[in-house]
Amino acid sequence: MKFETLAIRTQTKRSQEREHSTPIFPTSSFVFDSAEQMRALFAEEEEGNIYSRFSNPNCTEFEDKMCLLEGGEDAVSTATGMAGIFSSIIPFLEAGDHILASRAIFGSSYQILTNYLPKWGISHSFADPEKTESWASLIQPNTKMLFLETPSNPALDIIDLEWAAKFAQQHNLILNVDNCFATPYLQNPLKWGADIVTHSATKFIDGQGRVLGGIVIGKKELIDKVRRFGRQTGPALSPFNAWVLSKSLETLAIRMDRHCTNAEALAKHLINHPLINRVNYPFLESHPAYGIAKKQMKMGGGVVTFELKGGLEYGKKFLDNIQMISLSANLGDSRTIATHPASTTHSKVDEATRLSVGITNGLVRVSVGLEHIDDIVADIEQALGKI
Ligand SMILES: *Cc1c(COP(=O)(O)O)cnc(C)c1O
Repeated sequence: MKFETLAIRTQTKRSQEREHSTPIFPTSSFVFDSAEQMRALFAEEEEGNIYSRFSNPNCTEFEDKMCLLEGGEDAVSTATGMAGIFSSIIPFLEAGDHILASRAIFGSSYQILTNYLPKWGISHSFADPEKTESWASLIQPNTKMLFLETPSNPALDIIDLEWAAKFAQQHNLILNVDNCFATPYLQNPLKWGADIVTHSATKFIDGQGRVLGGIVIGKKELIDKVRRFGRQTGPALSPFNAWVLSKSLETLAIRMDRHCTNAEALAKHLINHPLINRVNYPFLESHPAYGIAKKQMKMGGGVVTFELKGGLEYGKKFLDNIQMISLSANLGDSRTIATHPASTTHSKVDEATRLSVGITNGLVRVSVGLEHIDDIVADIEQALGKI
């Protein structure tokens, strides 16, 4: 079956009421018919729900769908995207190991690598996403994992997944890809040869800014270890949030089509604006990795960034002039959201580090929503006009 059909027709067991739409299973534990059944389930001789930290029908439905949509063998859902990313790293590394990561990764992923892993003797190196020819020189005898994000948040760097998978295989690394910006509808890293894919389901997968969630998907033998880690340390997704996210997947394809056409239209509209130095969007021919984006993504995604000529001051003025669009830290919502990373999310990062990951002083990130494109463009135009 095709993507849209799998996203709608993959359903967990119905209850005895024979409801058409999956119900919510808000239960912390499950009952057993006998001591023998209980023993067999705990011994993992039989499959079934025991306790919602281990599994729950709503989480299983969300995991089954995401597995099919990403082309994975197994998946584990988590309470947030960060819980997923943490759970996709820790089970595979030990003291003395080294992780190679793209420099352009989400801020909290960067913090895991720089603030926490070193405490346990796990070192890291950062690689420039635009200079993959230099990556081989960063490999050490103890390098175990390659961690990357494409397109990256917020700079929209693109890394060639086919190349990355070959590189990882050649150096015997686990290739772990944060696929949050693309969603499984636009890009499937596992199909290019990645070993693990993570998502913050909080973003486009939920798509309406309601719940937090995450997921780790990949090869069976790797996900077994992630599941065991989750069972013991407890980053479980709640049944209610899993239900919301599974329902959201039913409309992911149709929503992403609109996010992408709106985003591309906005990007093209802004290209020649006199206050803007540069517009970034993976499907603009001016993007440095346009050819790679076209090869591995179905459409260009729902996020556009642009650089205002007047730096920090114009960035703040622009946000203050916005009327309809939301100023919010989230993205992937049906409502268009604008942020100015240099004065907000990345204001505590020193300028040199910010610039090295493409966060210039005038950079504005727009998560393009599902409103009519004319209204989105009009708000941005009037906000620029008043600067
Ligand atoms: C938001 C985000 C995360 C973290 O997800 P949470 O659900 O907020 O924990 C990770 N990676 C990327 C690319 C993100 O945008």
